[in-house]
Amino acid sequence: MIPRRPTLAAPGLNVVERPALSYRAFLQLEVVGPATVDWVDWMAKNRMNRMVATLYPAKGYKGQPYAQFRSVPGLLDAFRRRGLAIEAGNHAAFHWIPPAEFHAAKPEFYSRVRGKTNRLEDLRLDRGQLCYANDEIASITADRVLEFARAHPEVDLLSLYTNDGYGYCECARCAALGTPSDAYCTYVDRVARRVHEARPDLRLSFLSYNAIKDPPRVRVFGTNTLCVVATWPPTDQTRLEGWLASGAGQVALYEYYMGSYSDRSFPWVAPRAIADELRTIHRLGLAGVASQ
Ligand SMILES: [Zn+2]
Repeated sequence: MIPRRPTLAAPGLNVVERPALSYRAFLQLEVVGPATVDWVDWMAKNRMNRMVATLYPAKGYKGQPYAQFRSVPGLLDAFRRRGLAIEAGNHAAFHWIPPAEFHAAKPEFYSRVRGKTNRLEDLRLDRGQLCYANDEIASITADRVLEFARAHPEVDLLSLYTNDGYGYCECARCAALGTPSDAYCTYVDRVARRVHEARPDLRLSFLSYNAIKDPPRVRVFGTNTLCVVATWPPTDQTRLEGWLASGAGQVALYEYYMGSYSDRSFPWVAPRAIADELRTIHRLGLAGVASQ
């Protein structure tokens, strides 16, 4: 029998917590709908502090997935009420520089592989990339990032992730810059400087993933950047240390403890290993974790 009390007081309850990791993100990979409001509640209770929202047209979406953040009743309010931040982007290369808009007039914006001319139908999210040596795409990306941020003041971080696949550009200009990491980081650096000039409060995340594995030899403007390093468990500590040493801003781990996709994965049931890993990334000086 639970005793009934008309009031419930908790005297002296004044708890202040200072989290060891400032970046505690959760990836929004499912269709945004009324259930996303419940996810926000779940995230806060599990001490996450931001959602990474998808900007590319994903499976199950019609049109721009971020538009749903405004159309789902109470969703933006749920973020405000819980004090959770929103990062927009994910694998958004073709959101910033859409092939349907630019390819006909500027095929040089997109990756060329094995000396072949790129065709529009080959520029898919899972295989095409941008030609990161091209300065014009950095300038257009910066303009569009700023435009998106103006229209969506609830977003404080935007991502410059590569697309989710290979197909990195092998043109002479990219090759002259060095490795795929060097070419990509040249682009990140150019966008970050331009965005910082106009909006010093805005931050940009970028991705160390598949071909962008090794830290760059070029220097990324690190004042407003966060490099998210995706490594399958167990985490590659050498890579994390390399990116930290590169001076490319804050570094976070992109992890797959819950599998690859929630609808076709089994979580990695290894709480002790996960806890050890989180202690390690804190000791190394990482900003935190993005959870897929
Ligand atoms: Zn290129």
